[in-house]
Amino acid sequence: MTQTNIVVSPATDAFAQTARLRIGVDVGGTKIEGVLVDADEHALRGGVGVRVLDSVRVPARRGERQVVEDVSTVVNAMMHSEAALHVSDDNDSGMSRFVGVGIGTPGRVDSAAGVVENIANLDVSRLDISNEIGAACGLSVRVENDVNAAALGAYALIGGGNHVGHDVNISDDTDDTVAFLNLGTGLAAGILRNGRLDHGSSGVVGEIGHIPVERHRWQCPCGQCGCLETAAGGGAIIRQWPQANPPMPDVLAKASDPSSPDYELAMDVKRTVIGAIADAIDILAVTVDPRVIMIGGGTARTGEPLMAAIQEELCRREKNSRFIESLHLCDRLFLVPGTEPVGAIGAALSA
Ligand SMILES: [Zn+2]
Repeated sequence: MTQTNIVVSPATDAFAQTARLRIGVDVGGTKIEGVLVDADEHALRGGVGVRVLDSVRVPARRGERQVVEDVSTVVNAMMHSEAALHVSDDNDSGMSRFVGVGIGTPGRVDSAAGVVENIANLDVSRLDISNEIGAACGLSVRVENDVNAAALGAYALIGGGNHVGHDVNISDDTDDTVAFLNLGTGLAAGILRNGRLDHGSSGVVGEIGHIPVERHRWQCPCGQCGCLETAAGGGAIIRQWPQANPPMPDVLAKASDPSSPDYELAMDVKRTVIGAIADAIDILAVTVDPRVIMIGGGTARTGEPLMAAIQEELCRREKNSRFIESLHLCDRLFLVPGTEPVGAIGAALSA
């Protein structure tokens, strides 16, 4: 199902002439991951693979100073990686080998200002992260919302998904829209138009997890009630199914086993979670109309059983609605392999 374009390999002389290195950093709630990437412009259009030359991972610590230190450590490790030293010719062994650094982070990100606010899991209220990291490493730094970064990484990883769906004919004059639905701690989407991120007017594009669909139901930290995220966000799934970690594989296994004492309860949770994910797919289809909806994030690591449950729900909706049937939602879905560091790769590509 997947077409992996990423290879981790030592740099070769053939690549050395054209190498343009990018460093990507994915700031997570428990770890900070960095990659050293060699990619040309075509990679952003999903045309050519991205080469991950090296990677590093450190535990994430709470606090603004700690986040700056940890990101700096990761960037430094990638700048001085053996692989980076190999990718240079005699005339170019310095900083000019690097395009720059991209950082993907949760929280509210203002890419233009280089600032991130409210990374709740890391006790960060405001961080001028582009300037701070830029001053520390001497490279230009771009900060991007983590879901947007993962969208870019996933797009490069699956080659733009050009082999997904039907009647695909993409040329330079054709608008191509692709969405990445992140089933992570939160629920949000990144939107790519012709390989470029759509930020909207204020950066809020894709925050579909905060669309309220069941106002009578659960309170959301955003202040509303019944947001999609309160049903299908990572925390919401754990709340509904605290007896297993990760919860989703266990929910789907018990819901497919009528002899299980937890069968009814698991069916109920499955309906809630999968229903909200299907709502999110439906919303993306009618508001953004993406050719491909890439599904990624922690919950997506459940893999094929999750995709089967989503497709089953979408088929059920198609049977009840000619309109939904006409959207061909199942044909647009693509599961992003959970083994690749799409967040860090995408951050590098945003640099
Ligand atoms: Zn909300």
